[in-house]
Amino acid sequence: MPVIQIGRHRIEYSVTTGTSRRYTYFRFRTDKTLEIVLPRGRRVDLDSAIRNRQAWIVKHYERLSQNRRILDEGQVMFDGEHLKLIFEESQEKEELLHDPIRKVVTVRSSERSRIRELVRRWFLKETSRYVVAKLEGLSGMLDVKYSRADVRQMKNWGYCTRDGRLSFNWQLIALPERLREYIILHELAHLSEFNHSSAFKGRLAAFCPDYRQREKELDKITSL
Ligand SMILES: [Zn+2]
Repeated sequence: MPVIQIGRHRIEYSVTTGTSRRYTYFRFRTDKTLEIVLPRGRRVDLDSAIRNRQAWIVKHYERLSQNRRILDEGQVMFDGEHLKLIFEESQEKEELLHDPIRKVVTVRSSERSRIRELVRRWFLKETSRYVVAKLEGLSGMLDVKYSRADVRQMKNWGYCTRDGRLSFNWQLIALPERLREYIILHELAHLSEFNHSSAFKGRLAAFCPDYRQREKELDKITSL
């Protein structure tokens, strides 16, 4: 795919022809690639069309990028949703309050720099609870046994050892259910196929037919 470089962003794009005879349209796909739709039967100078829409392109690209970060200024991703994150300075008790109805998370602490640590504790607790419940159901479904499982700080989303120990990233709970489930299925599938062979993929596909799509979605999420 060709790339436009605008400032520090490298934006992949494709060009198609639409049905309009007059207008050039710009739109982003969910994978952050830009689609430029040219009018039918009319020559358009692509470079100047892009230049004219540069501000719009950057604004929308940045919004899309931001939406895929787990923790960002004023927002946190939880269960696949972006919750508003509010900081309240308080010298008293330090706490994190999650209001699922209003979709707001409030962090009370003496220092703003404590936000990350409080989110970490919250995620750790919620991810642990999730992993325990989910492993029980899915390991039965795949008919595999693991020796133990833990939730911790790690670079990848999941990990599996040859002797059947599973580890999961503490940020799992931030992801939409279909992506968390994919991660757990992936590691459980390794219990019978300790590689990424076609046998492994076949096994994964048996329980998760759209696993490739889920992998792609997961690639676009930036963990903490
Ligand atoms: Zn793997």
